[in-house]
Amino acid sequence: MTITTKQQQVNEASTLAGLASLLHTIQTEIDGECNIENVVDLCSLPTFGGAGVKNTDEVWSWDECAVLVANCYGKWAVQDRCSCGEATRHCICE
Ligand SMILES: [Zn+2]
Repeated sequence: MTITTKQQQVNEASTLAGLASLLHTIQTEIDGECNIENVVDLCSLPTFGGAGVKNTDEVWSWDECAVLVANCYGKWAVQDRCSCGEATRHCICE
């Protein structure tokens, strides 16, 4: 699989969960070889509808109900948005 193919797969992801699983797969494949940022442009991941989040720290993509987050160990996870629309870790509820 080429670098281009991985980026194309990411670009063609059709759901947030699909994107999360794809990134996890890529991460596993390249583990120890290079950083995922060298393979996939993490700053322009596709998003899947809904309003953008205000605080994008560690938030990489979203849909209407959920956000895609990653920690520094490269664990990708889909988490429900808070009712304020932000990732729960960035909740701005009163
Ligand atoms: Zn909130």
